[in-house]
Amino acid sequence: MKRDYEYIVLGLGGFGSAAAYWLSKRVGGQVLGLEQFELGHVRGESQDHSRIIRLSYHTPGYVELAKQAYHAWAAVERDSGEQLVLRTGGLDFAHRVSAIPLRTYSESMDAAGVAYETLDAGEIMRRWPPFRLSDDIHGLYQAESGIAMAARGNAAHLRMAREHGATLRDRAPVEAIRPSNGEIEIDAGGVQYRCGRLILAAGAWSNQALAPFGIQLPLTVTQEQVTYFASPHLAAFQPERFPIWIWMDDPCFYGFPVFGEAGPKVGQDAGGREVTTETRTFEPDQPALQRVRDFLGKYIPSLLGPVIYTKTCLYTLTPDRDFVLDAVPDHPNVSIAIGGGHGFKFASLVGRILSELAVDAHTDCNLGPFRLDRAILQLKNPPKHYMV
Ligand SMILES: Cc1cc2nc3c(=O)[nH]c(=O)nc-3n(C[C@H](O)[C@H](O)[C@H](O)COP(=O)(O)OP(=O)(O)OC[C@H]3O[C@@H](n4cnc5c(N)ncnc54)[C@H](O)[C@@H]3O)c2cc1C
Repeated sequence: MKRDYEYIVLGLGGFGSAAAYWLSKRVGGQVLGLEQFELGHVRGESQDHSRIIRLSYHTPGYVELAKQAYHAWAAVERDSGEQLVLRTGGLDFAHRVSAIPLRTYSESMDAAGVAYETLDAGEIMRRWPPFRLSDDIHGLYQAESGIAMAARGNAAHLRMAREHGATLRDRAPVEAIRPSNGEIEIDAGGVQYRCGRLILAAGAWSNQALAPFGIQLPLTVTQEQVTYFASPHLAAFQPERFPIWIWMDDPCFYGFPVFGEAGPKVGQDAGGREVTTETRTFEPDQPALQRVRDFLGKYIPSLLGPVIYTKTCLYTLTPDRDFVLDAVPDHPNVSIAIGGGHGFKFASLVGRILSELAVDAHTDCNLGPFRLDRAILQLKNPPKHYMV
């Protein structure tokens, strides 16, 4: 069987569902989305209740992009009638000398005209009594930070994409991609499709999706995890009273107030072992959980309680942790997005940018840092720098 669509989106996780949504808003029924598993599956990177969204970032470029990310989510909230972002405020904190200097964050926000507060340990504990901090710890507080409601956001993108006319197929793995004469043929789930423009949003499967174009990137896939704790002091961790937070050192930990489950959530950033999409498991890594417990025991002891559950998830890391968001070299009708393990907050914006690249071959966003042909992505064994 043969079917034609002008636009095909490969992968309907966080980025692909957003791309299908923004594309269908412009071109309706010309959009086909293909997902290898069931919609909303947990084998990729974008599920669970919550992801951190924040303006506080290490370069002015990311701060500017994050401003636009809030606008993109707000547009989907208006269109879908659902709340998808919850502002809780956000605290970045660390010893005054740390692996991730707070100064790069404050300077980036200064450059981008974003307001924030600098807090000492005493002030942090006065505002949020669960913290137990020594005097050499300081923090940055930014009021717009909060929760991007991940599972709900993906579902909203998919539902609204269908409402705008897109066709979405689950359990339809893309098995072959053949570029020919400016068009692309695709075999997926027993059907052959032809399209004019293709968006690759394949997460940890990105190198398989790029193979037909003769490109392989030095990506590292890691198995990460987050844990919900049944704190006996739940009142102190409600989103009206407790911020999202990031411990800006190596190892780097982060956490959320109570949202989606009956307890706050905590994880370690980029602390998981290297895996492939085949070797990953769904088993919690106990030493990693112990690292989280040790951190909490020291700095937020009243958060600890019985484990509600630990959930595994994949990071697709570029060596510099910057995104890939670009057209594929020599194939201007094919574009790709890879999130570098911190992309969800930008998901709706990334979807909008991908739709602009596909429809207009142009976007106003500065994609310079995210080029697929940047120097570090041309190295086979590049130096890796994940603590940014
Ligand atoms: C534990 C954890 C915590 C995180 N915390 C944050 C955070 O606080 N803030 C933040 O901004 N980001 C965070 N991230 C990162 C963020 O979640 C990811 O960057 C983002 O979700 C990436 O989305 P994606 O669409 O690229 O990948 P995915 O959601 O994995 O989507 C890729 C999709 O492509 C499909 N696919 C692949 N190959 C094929 C094929 N051949 N045919 C059909 N379908 C295919 C896959 O099945 C999958 O559904 C976190 C990630 C993890 C794992």
